[in-house]
Amino acid sequence: MSDNLRPLLAGNWKMNGRLADLAEIDAIRSRVAAGAAGQAQVVVCPPFTLLTEAARRCGGSPVGLGAQDCSTAPCGAYTGDISAEMLKDAGASFVIVGHSERRAGHGESDALVRAKAAAGLRAGLNVILCLGETQAQRSAGEALATVAAQLEASLPEEAAPERLVIAYEPVWAIGTGITPTPTDIAEMHGFLRRRLAERRAGGERIRILYGGSVKPANAADLLNGADVNGALVGGASLKAEEFMAIAAVYR
Ligand code: PEP
Repeated sequence: MSDNLRPLLAGNWKMNGRLADLAEIDAIRSRVAAGAAGQAQVVVCPPFTLLTEAARRCGGSPVGLGAQDCSTAPCGAYTGDISAEMLKDAGASFVIVGHSERRAGHGESDALVRAKAAAGLRAGLNVILCLGETQAQRSAGEALATVAAQLEASLPEEAAPERLVIAYEPVWAIGTGITPTPTDIAEMHGFLRRRLAERRAGGERIRILYGGSVKPANAADLLNGADVNGALVGGASLKAEEFMAIAAVYR
């Protein structure tokens, strides 16, 4: 049972946001400080370019910052890459790895995702590791097996349970407005919870987020089930109003 874990509400801005959009992070910061997310931990993951300024604005506030990817190397001749150490230096405390848009669009393998997760941990970041099946895999009855294989091959070796977060994000639910049923979510989260508890000492303390088309209107249905320890939110995290309407489930 993991329902006493502190929920985590993480916003993934993807490749969206310019300096002017930090006004949304300012609004999230003031609303969270005023109790809009209850006891939930709130993290925003803007693009790399906004991290330093976002961190300056969020310093001393309850809102944490994360990045959306990192290199496996700490530094060196890797043109265009950003290391986990650099993210930490810029003020991030979280990094997302293995998002399906990186697995599909950049050909990231489970082994690479595992190495990126290890890099995030090495740098002192908390890691949000994304897993999820495609529509074809679900239709073929392979959703659990697909996610189990991803977990097996991309979970970093050494990770304190408190520093690792799993995000179950069915690929077909991301940005589509289509969501699994609460029963489907319960089945997958319960399965992941059992796997984590079997595989790791303290696995029952690893938070498992749901991600994929979470909106204010469906948040209560999707996020209140057993072993759903928070959400990874894409589109609906770009505007403070919408993101905080989702956070209301934790008040
Ligand atoms: C995501 O990309 O992590 C995500 C969950 O996106 P959306 O909420 O827009 O479906």
